[in-house]
Amino acid sequence: MLDLDGVMWRGADPIDGSTEAVGELLRLGDQVVFCTNNSSESGSTRRMKLLDRGIPDGFDVVTSADAVATLVESGSRVLSVGGAGLAEALAARGAEVIDIGASNPAPQSAAEVLDPAEVLEVDRGFDDVVVGLNPRFDYQMLDLAAAAVRGGARLLVSNTDTTYPGSGGIHPGTGSLVAAVEAASGRPSTPGGKPNEPMAALLRDIVGAAPGIVVGDNGDTDGRLAEKLGFRFGLVLTGVTQTSDLPLAVPVDVVADDLASLVARRSELIS
Ligand SMILES: [Mg+2]
Repeated sequence: MLDLDGVMWRGADPIDGSTEAVGELLRLGDQVVFCTNNSSESGSTRRMKLLDRGIPDGFDVVTSADAVATLVESGSRVLSVGGAGLAEALAARGAEVIDIGASNPAPQSAAEVLDPAEVLEVDRGFDDVVVGLNPRFDYQMLDLAAAAVRGGARLLVSNTDTTYPGSGGIHPGTGSLVAAVEAASGRPSTPGGKPNEPMAALLRDIVGAAPGIVVGDNGDTDGRLAEKLGFRFGLVLTGVTQTSDLPLAVPVDVVADDLASLVARRSELIS
């Protein structure tokens, strides 16, 4: 199970050797599942990007948007405060999605993103507010999301990573955004992504009882996911974790400079 941000790329910058390393795993017949807490794009968009980068088909992609969507009932009314990928996953679940996350500038009210005929329905309230990674997150979105939660909606979040590694360094993650909604609404959030049960359940559906290794750059998410699945954890130093952060609070089975050097040790790891 391979993390994306900090393993395959940092922002728009590919990490040297990672594409070739995944190609090698697929050639050897390993099952490869990409598993990301980044909810800003759908699994199908992620898949296209990976294929565009030259990775041969034959892999699965699961995002935290897919994971949090499993917490939403079909037919429920959901305020989405994330990217397009989150709204897509929620709609695929059969929810009625009011997507304020994609608006730019942010709407002054949820009514602004509805058809006129639907405006009166806004007061009906929401069953769920779902927060995902969103670089356009602003005060107005915070205001609407907190009001909906105070009005009785559950507060769900794709993942609680407080940071993620991007092109220019470390940036605020979804956990930092949802912390603002928690503070403004006074209610705690329920997460869907790594290392939480909704994501673990989706992954178990794909891999069954096969043993494996989770490779990622983050002990709190990738390492804890490995623990939950009974997998080994391979930590790579191409993302949020540096050598100076070691040892981590979570068990680490192998530390590698990057994915390519970890895959070079594959035969030792599966023995
Ligand atoms: Mg990562």
